[in-house]
Amino acid sequence: MGAISESVASAIVSVLVPRSLADCVGVLGERPDALVLAGGTDLMVAVNESHRRIDDGLTVVAVNRVPELRSWTLDRVAGVVRIGAGVTYTELAADPLAGLLPALAQAARTVGSPQIRNAATIGGNVATCSPAGDGLPVLAALEADVELASASGVRSLPIAEFMLGVKKTAREPGELITAVTVPLLDGWQGYVKVGVRNAMVIAISGACLAVDTPSRSVRLALGSVAPTIIRVPEAERFAAERVDWATGSIDPNDVAEFGRLAAAASRPIDDHRSTAAYRRHSIEVLARRLLARAFEVNA
Ligand SMILES: Cc1cc2nc3c(=O)[nH]c(=O)nc-3n(C[C@H](O)[C@H](O)[C@H](O)COP(=O)(O)OP(=O)(O)OC[C@H]3O[C@@H](n4cnc5c(N)ncnc54)[C@H](O)[C@@H]3O)c2cc1C
Repeated sequence: MGAISESVASAIVSVLVPRSLADCVGVLGERPDALVLAGGTDLMVAVNESHRRIDDGLTVVAVNRVPELRSWTLDRVAGVVRIGAGVTYTELAADPLAGLLPALAQAARTVGSPQIRNAATIGGNVATCSPAGDGLPVLAALEADVELASASGVRSLPIAEFMLGVKKTAREPGELITAVTVPLLDGWQGYVKVGVRNAMVIAISGACLAVDTPSRSVRLALGSVAPTIIRVPEAERFAAERVDWATGSIDPNDVAEFGRLAAAASRPIDDHRSTAAYRRHSIEVLARRLLARAFEVNA
């Protein structure tokens, strides 16, 4: 394991660079308060803006040299893709992962710039748990599990139980997010977001719709309109009942009602990015748009 002591903005910190998952988890077991550093695209912003204190004696564990975190695997029998926490948006946005999880690829393509996408990881997005995190509505709609490892073992929990609030998660001190396990669905899926411009923009609102045709289910997850990502069971049930599954079509009035149900479920706030009213309106439009892409709308 590489270890260096560095001065970061006048504090003396130790930076450990483990080369294996076992070393990484071992370090976090000994120093549960150590700061995990992946791509640094959230963490360094937080440090620069003084939202994250760097005190003397802090240990930083840089995880980007841990090979187990950098890879992904497809299990066709179980019907899941296991994505290591250190997989970047650049990797998620390209085939073969993009072909397996198209909505996650769409979300990845909206994140930051090419430079950010090369460094930023899915694990960092999940750990930060911003209501505007673009990967999160997709993981919520696809009902992914988050895998966490610590000195006492490995546990896995549904993303809906992992995300507790604004930048608040069920991760315990000493735990490392090792992977997200994402079920493969058989049906259309997509992610859309609204921002003040087309690139380098944090979402004013975002939505993921995922259809599973064999189980005739429609899932809708919303970002930036509540303290954390929300699903919209009323809209999901409504759409599943109104879709003509034999023809893959839906009535335009039902598409409109789906949008209204999504807007009604959202609990947005006014902040520097947008008003609550605009967020609610944009969610209505995004939900409608997604459903109309997923199914043929009857003339
Ligand atoms: C210019 C810019 C544009 C951006 N645009 C977007 C955008 O459009 N959409 C979007 O969603 N985000 C955006 N972000 C935020 C950021 O890129 C993402 O949230 C990214 O996924 C964070 O990943 P990271 O690897 O850089 O995490 P880091 O910054 O390294 O870490 C973030 C947090 O997660 C913790 N952490 C990281 N990995 C692990 C792990 N394996 N286990 C436990 N804890 C861990 C860290 O301790 C830290 O608290 C942007 C950031 C910048 C600087």
